[in-house]
Amino acid sequence: MTQALSIKQADSLARSAVDRGRLEREEALSLISSLEEPGILEAMAEAAFESKTRTKGEIVTVSRNVFLPLTNLCRNRCTYCGFAKKPDSPEAHTYTLDEVAEVVKGGVKTGCTEALMCLGDKPEIAYKGYREGLVESGYSSTTDLIVQACEVSLAGGMLPHTNAGIMQAEEMERLRPLNASMGLMMETTSQRLRGKGMPHFHAPDKDPAVRIRMHEEAGELKIPFTTGILLGIGENNEERVDTLLKIRELNERYEHIQEVIVQPFHPKEDTPMHGVQTIRDDEVVAWVALARLLLGSEMNLQAPPNLAPEMLPRLARAGLNDWGGVSPVTVDFINPEAPWPALDGLRALTESTDQKLRDRGPVYPDWLLGRPEFFDSSMHESVLRLATDEGYARRPNHQSKEEAA
Ligand code: SF4
Repeated sequence: MTQALSIKQADSLARSAVDRGRLEREEALSLISSLEEPGILEAMAEAAFESKTRTKGEIVTVSRNVFLPLTNLCRNRCTYCGFAKKPDSPEAHTYTLDEVAEVVKGGVKTGCTEALMCLGDKPEIAYKGYREGLVESGYSSTTDLIVQACEVSLAGGMLPHTNAGIMQAEEMERLRPLNASMGLMMETTSQRLRGKGMPHFHAPDKDPAVRIRMHEEAGELKIPFTTGILLGIGENNEERVDTLLKIRELNERYEHIQEVIVQPFHPKEDTPMHGVQTIRDDEVVAWVALARLLLGSEMNLQAPPNLAPEMLPRLARAGLNDWGGVSPVTVDFINPEAPWPALDGLRALTESTDQKLRDRGPVYPDWLLGRPEFFDSSMHESVLRLATDEGYARRPNHQSKEEAA
């Protein structure tokens, strides 16, 4: 068992990691296993904030988006999931292109630039009725639906970011010219959670090897990629650190990880894991700080502001530089019980921590302006059209509240 660090030791370790540019595995485990000692969390957060400030300065970003759950059917059965529905559920829904266009219209009116296409993994493998529905609509696969939804979104003035679960390289290659960025949460690299009775037992797409492979292929295709860690589904500290280290290693190989999300799991009613203990807010802050120390100063690090609302000022000073997508139009379909904060409130809160909130699109300014090789040329032009000279979001079609009414 790792011996708890004193505050002085923790402070010195965390600060030396900032200077070295990275924290190592055993160091991370020492810090996190000392968390119950008074002052350790603060020492970690201060060092992580220093690391963030060195590269990102006082800026924290947010992406004003719409969330389009193109289908909430999924071939996997993660025991914590409240998003996926069975085909016979009254809540099961697959979007028509007219519905996509309607949401996009609402997004443009309210100044959103990102259309987040987030959906279940390949439901056509599990459900015959869904498969037949695709064919009736003229699609041969869910990817066909995503392609057309991206085209509708682009035509309507919004930039797609697709997270459709596991995709093959050919599917990502097809979607790349239509997407400003794409993503897949790593969630965890724990093979243990695939075991019998564990959350991913009935979820073949949650096999760590499958998820790592998709990250590698996205890297080979030069796709600006979002990933992240899911906290509180049964993984232990070692598994969390190893997941973050795997993300770091992948980025060192391909340099394609645009952002890393630290996302706490909230138990959902009517799921087998409805009774699990929610991860403490303190722990969320600690893992944001640890992620910054492990991933280094340059990584874009995000924590969703609706999943630890009581801790936002502390989160804001724990090393994150992004609040992720916040929508004035759609709910968080993964966590519908957790409302988005008002953007004005988020701005005031960020400023109360001596930082500034800036709006970004689905591409971070440093990527948009500094890494053109990661974009198909026509997509690069589309993203630039919706960006200021500094690479932040610009809204040519944004109407005022009065105009939108
Ligand atoms: S893969 Fe995602 S959508 Fe499908 S059951 Fe698991 S958590 Fe839910």
